[in-house]
Amino acid sequence: MPLIDTHCHLDFDAFDDIRDEMVQEAFNAGVTRIVNPGVDLDRSRAAIALADTYPGVYAAVGIHPSSTAEFSDAMLDEVRALADHPKVVAIGEIGLDYHWDDSPHDVQRIALEAQLALAAALGLPVIIHNREASEDVIDVLAAWVPSLPPDLRDRPGVLHSFSAPQHIADRALELGFYLGFTGPVTFKNADDLRTIAARVPDDRILVETDAPFLTPHPYRGKRPNKPAYVRFVAERLAALRRMPDETFAAQSTANAERLFALPPDKPA
Ligand SMILES: [Zn+2]
Repeated sequence: MPLIDTHCHLDFDAFDDIRDEMVQEAFNAGVTRIVNPGVDLDRSRAAIALADTYPGVYAAVGIHPSSTAEFSDAMLDEVRALADHPKVVAIGEIGLDYHWDDSPHDVQRIALEAQLALAAALGLPVIIHNREASEDVIDVLAAWVPSLPPDLRDRPGVLHSFSAPQHIADRALELGFYLGFTGPVTFKNADDLRTIAARVPDDRILVETDAPFLTPHPYRGKRPNKPAYVRFVAERLAALRRMPDETFAAQSTANAERLFALPPDKPA
């Protein structure tokens, strides 16, 4: 089943000894492309280095909300410079995280708004991280969308690892956003999330692993996550949406190609 893992932290240390095999395993298992978002400047540089190493890997660059405590104009300039690389397909991951509280909320918001403005100026979609901050995230996005150039109006970005209530999904979809789903959609106590995932329009749904985090069932809690496991997420979503795996794979792949303006698939 050909799939795109639209969110995988291949660059993280957890994969240092196994990265080559893991990427090869994923491509052998039918993963055609992997999008590696950055979480800070160093990790964004690492994401670009991996995109240079593996033909099927693409990068996003940005400062994750938990890394924004020292956010500055100089940092934003650096993100802008990194985004120049031809395999950078988005600004991300950026957003708000009120769970870990590693950076004051107002600083997170300044960093998010600055990076959204940068994305609009560069004509790149965004990868949005939201943890326990749904209302503020959606308000910031709603204020940003009217400023978008025409090319980004129908592909402003993705709410990655979607985990918010239905009314937030509805507002995000109205704004033109895609919703990305991860391992939790396979978890036992996730009926609400599955109800939301079943209702997302066919042309707005993405699959992701968020590896090394969020290992899907049946390996939850037993192994670190990896991009080859994106198929467990996709199979669950296909079943929920009552369609053959291959149909769902083709739809979600087309969605990822459209959102990130990925070139046509070439063999890894
Ligand atoms: Zn992530």
